[in-house]
Amino acid sequence: MKVLVPVKRVVDYNVKVRVKSDNTGVDIANVKMSMNPFDEIAVEEATRLKEAGKVTEVIAVSAGVTQCQETLRTAMAIGADRGILVETAVELEPLAVAKLLKALADKEQPQLIILGKQAIDDDSNQTGQMLAALLGWPQATFASKVVLEDGKVTVTREVDGGLETLSLTLPAIVTTDLRLNEPRYVTLPNIMKAKKKTLDVTKPEDLGVDVTPRLKTVKVAEPAKRSAGIKVPDVATLVAKLRTEAKVI
Ligand code: AMP
Repeated sequence: MKVLVPVKRVVDYNVKVRVKSDNTGVDIANVKMSMNPFDEIAVEEATRLKEAGKVTEVIAVSAGVTQCQETLRTAMAIGADRGILVETAVELEPLAVAKLLKALADKEQPQLIILGKQAIDDDSNQTGQMLAALLGWPQATFASKVVLEDGKVTVTREVDGGLETLSLTLPAIVTTDLRLNEPRYVTLPNIMKAKKKTLDVTKPEDLGVDVTPRLKTVKVAEPAKRSAGIKVPDVATLVAKLRTEAKVI
């Protein structure tokens, strides 16, 4: 049984991005790029399923520029068996990525696709859901526990009121939340081994997918600066300030 794991190359979570002076976007020239943290969790989960003998092959997929190969090598150092890069310089929107992943799913026939719940650059939280719709597969988003057994995947997800457990028939889509697992430390021997694993490169055209953007970014701006907070001596003062100054009650 194959598992497909889409991994996105994003600005490293430690980097504080700056808005470009012309407000057209954020400046990502010369900043550290890494695998989207939720995708690392997805690769770790797929690797654990393989180590438990529940799946036979883990395939990492990335769509984007040539340097996404580094992200795929990291996925292979964690435990993915091979990688596929869908190479394009076009800035991809979630729907375009979902279409590319659908084309690859049709080709590779995985029983499970584990994505991150969201990419920390655009915070879209859309790709997994769109992919499930395009494939017509069941989906369980924000997984905090995944159990694969007897042609089914049981997923526990954190919801506002507590924990929700879903049982899905395969093939299915799962998206990872932060508490699903703690990805392993990537060791040097595994980085060396990953260099020898297969990495295929394809293009959106080869998959018959048009990735032309459909959205236009109108403006990107820094959030308004927040003024420092104050301490109030008692509830009565708080209520008075909320009423007269903040005007929220
Ligand atoms: P998003 O809908 O953009 O927040 O992304 C959700 C998830 O979709 C990510 O965590 C990845 O697993 C996957 N994904 C999004 N964009 C890409 C991409 N360019 N290449 C591979 N996977 C992606």
